[in-house]
Amino acid sequence: MYRSHTCGELRMEHAGQEVSLSGWMFRNRDFGGMTFIDIRDRYGLTQLVFNMDDDADLCAAARKLGREYVIQIVGSVRERSNKNPNIPTGDIEIEVKSLTILNESKIPPFTIEDETDGGDDLRMTYRYLDLRRSPVQKNIIFRSKLAIETRKYLDAQDFIEVETPFLIKSTPEGARDFVVPSRMNEGQFYALPQSPQTFKQLLMVSGFDKYFQIVKCFRDEDLRADRQPEFTQIDCEMSYVHQEDILNTFEGLTKHLFKTTLDIDLPDFPRMTYDDALRLYGSDKPDTRFGMQFVELNPLVENSGFVVFDKSELVVGVCAPGAASWTRKQLDALTKWVQRPQIGAKGLVYVKCNEDGTFKSTVDKFFDQEALQNWANAFDAKPGDLILILAGETDKTRKQLNEVRLHVGNELGLRKKGEFKPLWVLDFPLLEWDEDSNRFHAMHHPFTSPKKEDIPRMLNGDHETMKSLRADAYDLVINGVEIGGGSIRIHDRDLQSRNFDLLGFTKEEAEDQFGFLMGAFEYGAPPHGGIAFGFDRLCSVLNGIESIRDFIAFPKNNQGRDMMIDAPAYIDDGQLKELSLEVTAKKEA
Ligand code: ASP
Repeated sequence: MYRSHTCGELRMEHAGQEVSLSGWMFRNRDFGGMTFIDIRDRYGLTQLVFNMDDDADLCAAARKLGREYVIQIVGSVRERSNKNPNIPTGDIEIEVKSLTILNESKIPPFTIEDETDGGDDLRMTYRYLDLRRSPVQKNIIFRSKLAIETRKYLDAQDFIEVETPFLIKSTPEGARDFVVPSRMNEGQFYALPQSPQTFKQLLMVSGFDKYFQIVKCFRDEDLRADRQPEFTQIDCEMSYVHQEDILNTFEGLTKHLFKTTLDIDLPDFPRMTYDDALRLYGSDKPDTRFGMQFVELNPLVENSGFVVFDKSELVVGVCAPGAASWTRKQLDALTKWVQRPQIGAKGLVYVKCNEDGTFKSTVDKFFDQEALQNWANAFDAKPGDLILILAGETDKTRKQLNEVRLHVGNELGLRKKGEFKPLWVLDFPLLEWDEDSNRFHAMHHPFTSPKKEDIPRMLNGDHETMKSLRADAYDLVINGVEIGGGSIRIHDRDLQSRNFDLLGFTKEEAEDQFGFLMGAFEYGAPPHGGIAFGFDRLCSVLNGIESIRDFIAFPKNNQGRDMMIDAPAYIDDGQLKELSLEVTAKKEA
């Protein structure tokens, strides 16, 4: 028997018992006649004692153990004289009687401690060692618990877990596909699914009624901190549902997950339309942990002679509570910050609401105290607050002010870790006009249904009308992060076909790519809809951590590389030939 207990298990009640433990040599400390060793496994640490007077050979062997040696010991549990209140096993120690080295270890390239000295690349190259560290293990264990609780909840609601294929044809979710050459079908390729969208809809046609899958999705996008080329979704679909049914079911799932993992009871989720989200926060995923809602000033600033405002489509601002005390230096830095190319604002107008009831602004030349008082009223600004204003073209200016709001929210400590503000964003536009490509894009995806009342306009309306169509599409946002999104689907062949027309597919292209789905709609497709949650993101948001990488056992780096196995990699000429791929790939020297 390698072990009778784990390294995190023993307490005072075990005192006097003979036990065996297996684990890694974590730390050793020599005190003349005594040697202390901490043995570690995923459950915790236990202190081992070796006494020179009792067994000199054993003690000498213990002293020779290197870091991360795998050892097994037998000994008896006893109360510690020097208790450690910081660890659960801190009341006891093991008086070791025998020690076996199960495997030696080279000196690890970085310390296997909570705070390691290893840089990102090194940790990723030796990810299996990084994964030995307790905070990383905690994240992966959290993820496992979240998956299990998801399954429990959905199972209790009669959902069926179905696996869908990975080798498929392209599913448009707005990214590039990863493709896999087919050896047996010369010149042809599979695409890896960007999501199981079409398959889950087909499962509804088949009658499964409530489907879910915790599933890998693949998108060939430029990477950011919260993006990975392969990521995991909780993917769901239901039949005979309206938007309301989906929102209730998945609000229920979210509440269940918060309760079972964090013991947090979330109140009912507020809802906001897409239009309001943009108007009030300049974002379709607002962080509602704090206020600072946008206030539009156009009617208050008309014809002032201040050209910047006079020629702007939108003049809009936020009120930063208590920030009137910011120094000139801080405000100059903020102005520089909004002028960086990443934000791209031309300038920033600000108004300090002084404690004495007067105002000091960067536009005093054009606006007198009374005018500024009117602005302050519009913001409901208090003495001590700071009003920040941007002006320009509507969409751009809103985006910029969104950045300002989040930035200032951070500076003021308003985006609190440990506080959770979920929000449903509803009524997304169905189509989005893209100036660059001169065509419509599906805002969610091409299978999303317009709102029922918009169907006649969609079937018969002109180009401009299409821009105003609303979809039964919804996103779940928590703390400004998009956690999930979905829609009620089109389940009628003609409407689906019209949607493909609008999206610029020829009849042939639509038939070639999605004939199977439209065909299925002709065999009694029930009304259906669904949602998918970004599972990795959900893990990170619940833990107040920005990067999803921390919750993925073997993530890719910013270049999409797996540093540990060194992928992607070249394949040999023989393999290329077999796949009917031209042998053009250059090998590294
Ligand atoms: N397939 C969609 C996505 O990946 C989710 C959905 O509409 O259910 O975003």
